[in-house]
Amino acid sequence: MFAEIRQRIPHLAAWMESCYSCQPLLHLGEDTIHSCSGVQQGDPLGPLGFALTLQPLLERLQADVSGLRLNVWYLDDGTLMGSPEDLAAALHIVEREGPPLGLHLNRSKSLLYIPEDAVQAQSVLPTDIPTTRRGFSLLGCPIGPPDYCEEVFGARLSKLKESLGALHSVGDCQVECTLLRSCLALPKVSFILRACPPSHIQRTAAEFDRAIRCTLETIVGGPVSHWFWLKASLRCSHGGLNLRSALRHSPAAFLASTSFTKSLVLQILASPPAPSPHITPTVSRLATEAARPDWKCLDDIDVPLRQKCLSHVVDEACFQQLLDSAPTCRSRALALSSSLPHAGDWLNIIPSTTLGLHLHDREFRCCLRYWLGVPLHSSSYPCPECHLTADAYGDHQVGCGGNRDRIARHNAVRDAIHAAAQSAALAPSKETPGLLPGSQARPGDIFIPCWSLGRPTAFDVLVISPLQELTIAQAAQTPGHALQVGVQRKLAANLSACRSSGTDFVPLVAETLGGLAEDTIHTITIISRAIENRCGTSDSTPTTSHLFGRVAIALWRGNASLWLHRLPTIPPSLDGVA
Ligand SMILES: [Zn+2]
Repeated sequence: MFAEIRQRIPHLAAWMESCYSCQPLLHLGEDTIHSCSGVQQGDPLGPLGFALTLQPLLERLQADVSGLRLNVWYLDDGTLMGSPEDLAAALHIVEREGPPLGLHLNRSKSLLYIPEDAVQAQSVLPTDIPTTRRGFSLLGCPIGPPDYCEEVFGARLSKLKESLGALHSVGDCQVECTLLRSCLALPKVSFILRACPPSHIQRTAAEFDRAIRCTLETIVGGPVSHWFWLKASLRCSHGGLNLRSALRHSPAAFLASTSFTKSLVLQILASPPAPSPHITPTVSRLATEAARPDWKCLDDIDVPLRQKCLSHVVDEACFQQLLDSAPTCRSRALALSSSLPHAGDWLNIIPSTTLGLHLHDREFRCCLRYWLGVPLHSSSYPCPECHLTADAYGDHQVGCGGNRDRIARHNAVRDAIHAAAQSAALAPSKETPGLLPGSQARPGDIFIPCWSLGRPTAFDVLVISPLQELTIAQAAQTPGHALQVGVQRKLAANLSACRSSGTDFVPLVAETLGGLAEDTIHTITIISRAIENRCGTSDSTPTTSHLFGRVAIALWRGNASLWLHRLPTIPPSLDGVA
């Protein structure tokens, strides 16, 4: 290894030799182990050292067995392709020259693949190497006919189902949902989607989607019918949960991957490969998913052939499908409102109790149902706080002024912004009286003496429900309609009086689904930057997203209080006895 590093990367040689020229001690409980051979696991340079040690052997294979069609390695995972005679020659070199380098081939862990349509002629190859004619996995990706790909994907899905089944043992809905979205959904199988033609894995991809949907139902605490599942499968910025469908996104993944690796494939193979028969059918499927019937071949696709871009078009089509298939005016208003800027922030925070960003199970489940549009209750009932009708979706409850819950939600949002302004050293004060000459009115929840252009500014918080009777019809047509109603209401009440006293006025309006008005976004962003300036860092992105998350959790926790304090008086029970 040292010789190879000295020759190929001389400026790294001294460092590697100082690391590996002695035998470092590894401590395991009471035991001490001398690290005598190989590279150290966990050493970021370890794989490089290993690969360089292996390199002379690979070059020897390339030079001495010129008939090899493929000679590619990922560390100790090598793939050779060629005639039986060439493979036998290559094997001989590996077994002869590997041991002096510390590399020993384990025949029983190797695999000889002979395609089903190839003539079986393995007599020149050792018989103790396992042989298959169906297919093989390379770095976890199945390579072979459709039934083999389905089989390998199915085996992975079985393991994934075990994890999904164990998810409820976490015992915390918000954490379970975060784990499902971030670790157990599409990211878990995206490498298979990229490597296999969609037609090869269609059945298992559909089964994967069903498994994720069933797990979501466990977290939501009830059935998730088609429209809700369609919504959940959208990105958070489209009002979903980012539980993207494997079936729907597999064409985008495969086409992006084949396009991205095209030059690498050409580089590895001695001669250009024959055109893939899978491209045209996959383009056709992508065209369907993206609602772009004009995409007939790769050249027709007018966005970059990257998964992010292709999946974005699929997401846009899916969102349009959600709007077009909305069963009611409320559903459509919900879909539009939950796709407003920052509406999905509450889902993207780390559910930390220490940071005050955690929602209890009952809170989280209500929020999740309201977000997806799943009814909170089986029917309407008299609101225990105001005796008006509390509806099954929780729309009355989330705006009910029957006790102080609505004020508490408002104050929680206000306090989150006020605390951030304090951290930014903007000298904010809450509910400052006497801003208006001759009046004790308090036009702003937060007063900052020196804001934009050095002017004193009053900020007033308003949380408004787009799904209330007053705004729902227009909210189903115009995204952000309720925000505009809220802004106009606040400006009409306070702007003129504030300006006449030399104070600027900024309404900070949020919808109950988390969408924020432009001025609210601007204000929170400016405060975040001011905090970062105090800390002396140039990148304010983490602080900004954290502050948006903090405001979002304050809002949603407030929503949850309104729902949970207005539950039906007789809870349902299993045996019908209250
Ligand atoms: Zn009420």
